[in-house]
Amino acid sequence: MSRHAPRQHGRIESAIKLAIACGVMLLAVALAEDARVERVRTQEPRNGNVRIGVLGLFEPRELTVSAEDNNALILHSEQQTSVLERSSGVQVAEVRSIGSVLAVRVGTSTVHTSTLTITGRDGGPAGFVLSVPGKIARHYRGTLELKPVSGVVVAVVSMDLETAVASVVGAEGLAGAPIEALKAQAVAARSYLVAGKGRHSEFDFCDSTHCQFLRDPPGPGSVAEAALATRGLVLAYDSQPFAAMYTRSCRGRTRTPLELGLPSGVYPYYSVDCKYCRLHPSRWQSRISARNAATLRDSDESSRLQLNRRLGWGTAPSNTYIRRKQGEHVILEGTGQGHGIGLCQSGAMAMAKGGADFAQILSHYYPNTTIVFMRRLGANR
Ligand SMILES: [Zn+2]
Ligand SMILES: [Zn+2]
Repeated sequence: MSRHAPRQHGRIESAIKLAIACGVMLLAVALAEDARVERVRTQEPRNGNVRIGVLGLFEPRELTVSAEDNNALILHSEQQTSVLERSSGVQVAEVRSIGSVLAVRVGTSTVHTSTLTITGRDGGPAGFVLSVPGKIARHYRGTLELKPVSGVVVAVVSMDLETAVASVVGAEGLAGAPIEALKAQAVAARSYLVAGKGRHSEFDFCDSTHCQFLRDPPGPGSVAEAALATRGLVLAYDSQPFAAMYTRSCRGRTRTPLELGLPSGVYPYYSVDCKYCRLHPSRWQSRISARNAATLRDSDESSRLQLNRRLGWGTAPSNTYIRRKQGEHVILEGTGQGHGIGLCQSGAMAMAKGGADFAQILSHYYPNTTIVFMRRLGANR
């Protein structure tokens, strides 16, 4: 027995070694699978909220706010609080900008105040409808601040970061995009919301394409699913989250900010091949006066935006075009939609249809980046 003991012991030892080796391998596989997601402490928005300036494009002098369904809304003005509630029969507040104050009419009474904050009954977020009378009505979920600025009612909705992500993907996502493309879009949109502040003084972001287009929060469906499946994930370069830019379609290769006269931020971007756009370019044509054409500098994003702001967003949809003279006019013939930097939504959609997952899409359009899971500053986990 004693002669056999070492052999048996050796067998047990080998079995243990094998078990440990298997365990290590399994752990290694698990880590490799998880390696795409790094956990970092980062500047998650304060209270997990972002402040979005909404409906500013309409420059509204008057807005109406109404409670949704059977929710109550509490209006906090400087002097008093009042309640909007369907069951009380008073459901709408009309808010007008008069000089440096707001006139707030609820039912038959009007109060004047320099700011108005609207919350749920517990002081927290609530669902509400905000309208520019005769023009637009949108649903939001959050708390609302209204104030007069140069005769206009400025409306700022403080909403949960994830509500904002889903609302952006709902507005910016391409129709019919597969779930993995929407997930890539959600990570890019969240990265922008986490790291791209500072373009406005009254709020963090506007709701137009200047920042990111944002509409009503989506109902159940693939957009909400994409936001939920990527909850807390952002793109980072050197472990630092950055404001990920994206474009509707490129010219077959993406651009870098430097190529278009834009400053490089945390992430330098790379010009990457986009097979879908190379094979299926999105072409456009427009006709402008020679005088207007003279203000458009080639490969210069800011002059393109200035021209589009003056003449409409369809004037020069991208920075890739040729000019053709036609009498007093210039014909622009181009390809692509948008600045062409970062993730190309058309290419991402094609990659997802071809079986790529969101991490593969993101690593193609944002080389040398990692996907990180945000941890709140000061949090232990
Ligand atoms: Zn903006
Ligand atoms: Zn593309």
